[in-house]
Amino acid sequence: MGAWVIKITLLDAMGTDLDVVNAARVSFDKASDWTPNAQGNKLAEKDADLIRYLASGMTRRDKAAVIEGMIAVETPEAAEQLYRRIRQTPTHWSPFSHVMLKFRVDAPLFVARQLWKSHVGASSGDVGYPGWNEISRRYVDSAPELYQPEVWRGRASNKKQGSDSTKVLPGDYNDPIVGEAWDEDHVGEFMTGYYEHLLDAGVAPEQARMVLPQSMMTSWIWTGSVAFFARVCKLRLGKDAQAESGQVAQAISDHAEKVFPVSWKALMEN
Ligand SMILES: Cc1cc2nc3c(=O)[nH]c(=O)nc-3n(C[C@H](O)[C@H](O)[C@H](O)COP(=O)(O)OP(=O)(O)OC[C@H]3O[C@@H](n4cnc5c(N)ncnc54)[C@H](O)[C@@H]3O)c2cc1C
Repeated sequence: MGAWVIKITLLDAMGTDLDVVNAARVSFDKASDWTPNAQGNKLAEKDADLIRYLASGMTRRDKAAVIEGMIAVETPEAAEQLYRRIRQTPTHWSPFSHVMLKFRVDAPLFVARQLWKSHVGASSGDVGYPGWNEISRRYVDSAPELYQPEVWRGRASNKKQGSDSTKVLPGDYNDPIVGEAWDEDHVGEFMTGYYEHLLDAGVAPEQARMVLPQSMMTSWIWTGSVAFFARVCKLRLGKDAQAESGQVAQAISDHAEKVFPVSWKALMEN
């Protein structure tokens, strides 16, 4: 039995920032006149501007006007009006739906259970079923790997925050409170030992798995559009999100930014 870490591998990517631009420009029966060159993935500035417009719903001029309005705001009514204007500005996500990313994610069950909730824009395109295929413990009955956190975070005073990372408990085995509770020879062994015991007794893996803990590592292939992953990352990088899910989101974001630098920045900023 091992103590495993969260790992995200980019398996494949389809498209570039230019595909986002051309998906938008087809509305006018046009395409970008920029062609890839030694500058790598760098776009023409007008194409980069278009991407920023799609993601925010605002041109540079619109944005400057909003900021000017914010500085000049004098009454709560004016502030409310500005707030509504920003909230109600429509963005244009569909050009970001033609460019895709495919990952393999290794993470504990409790993280998979959270991330599974995002559906719309994952590769199946079907609400209710994301582009997600996962190891099945109906068919696999090898010794489970358990995720072990590097640190144990303390309980937050505000329940909605989940945990308080300023209150970090030491996670090493020697710690008298926490270490003992996670020592693989004690609790870890106990949790997986019962599973092994059931298998040895002839119980089917699909039932024996029910005694395995939420810290058990699982793996899945996760495919979706850039629009999809940007939404997932924004949700899971929020300050109220679970830190371990945020770790997956951060790794996805780092990969996505390398493949789609302009689009990713524009989507994450808006
Ligand atoms: C910090 C945090 C805490 C959470 N806590 C909980 C919790 O306690 N319990 C829980 O069950 N979940 C919880 N969730 C999950 C959350 O409720 C969402 O299911 C999850 O974040 C996926 O969100 P989504 O709306 O982007 O996903 P998707 O289902 O992929 O939807 C994407 C978007 O499509 C639109 N959409 C989707 N379906 C419809 C529809 N039927 N009709 C109209 N528009 C639709 C909406 O605009 C939606 O935002 C939490 C999420 C976060 C980030």
